[in-house]
Amino acid sequence: MSQTSGSRQVALGEGTADRSIPAYLPLRADLIGETPYGAPQLDLPVCLNVNENPYPLSDRVVDAIAESVRRVGQELNRYPDREHTRLRQAFCDYLDQESQTRLVPQQLWAANGSNEIMLQLFQAFGGPGRTALGADPTYSMYPEYARDTFTGWELVARRADFTIDLEKTLAAIESLGPSMVLLASPNNPSGTMLPMEELETILKACQGVQVAGAPEGVHPVVVVDEAYIEFRDPGLPSAVSLIEDHPNLAVSRTMSKAFAFAGARVGYVAASAGIIDALRIVRMPCHLSAVTQAAALAALGHADEQLSQVGRLRRTRQETADWLRGQTYRGKPLEVADSQSNFLLFGGHFENRQWIFEELCKRGVLIRVVGPQCWLRVCMGTDEEMDAFRQALAEVLAQA
Ligand SMILES: *Cc1c(COP(=O)(O)O)cnc(C)c1O
Repeated sequence: MSQTSGSRQVALGEGTADRSIPAYLPLRADLIGETPYGAPQLDLPVCLNVNENPYPLSDRVVDAIAESVRRVGQELNRYPDREHTRLRQAFCDYLDQESQTRLVPQQLWAANGSNEIMLQLFQAFGGPGRTALGADPTYSMYPEYARDTFTGWELVARRADFTIDLEKTLAAIESLGPSMVLLASPNNPSGTMLPMEELETILKACQGVQVAGAPEGVHPVVVVDEAYIEFRDPGLPSAVSLIEDHPNLAVSRTMSKAFAFAGARVGYVAASAGIIDALRIVRMPCHLSAVTQAAALAALGHADEQLSQVGRLRRTRQETADWLRGQTYRGKPLEVADSQSNFLLFGGHFENRQWIFEELCKRGVLIRVVGPQCWLRVCMGTDEEMDAFRQALAEVLAQA
């Protein structure tokens, strides 16, 4: 017990004065020195840092949401539908249309963002003595869910092109006996997709693996995080098509990215009824407010409109990747990871990425310092925003 004096610094993000958590507060020992997650929130003209859909909702969809929320207004004295049955059915209909997979509401579950879905998965399937396995680099929130649920967190390195190293991943699953295997596809921050055959190999392998410390016959749950799946090239399948044959598969999704609904905080997961029932044990009572359910239902009723810019953002991704590959940093062409998402990881040999990031900020363009050293991530904006990004980056690279 050496923590008796002084105070612990907690950064509240750029632009906010640092505060400190007083040392007399009984903060959990493993949280001492931790800082809240979040990209710097800077007020710059062009924000390409958090992978949102840059196009605002149409007036028609806004009116439908307002009307839907108004209708539940009278009943806000009552708790909402705990099982959010209508919304689960609406997500089933959406998946039928989007991924040609017919599921029933018992195989579907929603929460306040896929971040809450993930936390519920960790609460149900992680825990002390358990391990979750991921593929590095990946979404930086995963270790935080692990920490918050006292779950061990292990990583297998991806290959140089950020695809999964299948042999190493299978070996790690075999040797660790994790209770959860977490794979983002398309992966954040690389944008790379997990091929369906590799996922099937992993699922099959997990069927033969025993979870360490668990009773005989308990196998790992494989979680595929498909936050960006709608941005994949047409014709590529989604992991939801494997749910019927794999009771240990959970596919997490969100309305935050392609669906242009990040502010509403709605995520969902498709999985076997057994996995969904496990999540129902750990969820907070009535975790999804009536307002959220009403807003999500109205937006899902206008799915085509909400997704109408996805094709354009896909083209922007291709054009921006081509353009970036034609740029040089200190005489060497930039590398760009193969992306099926709405963002690009680029650079590969930026010896001072922080300087590049800051020079872009000075020119009004905010991107993200994330992922491996020497790389930066930019998400796709409107045509005007991408013009501003290209112009600023060309200037900065010329001075590097
Ligand atoms: C953005 C993102 C999410 C989405 O989180 P929400 O809580 O649904 O907004 C989930 N997973 C990954 C990998 C992401 O990048």
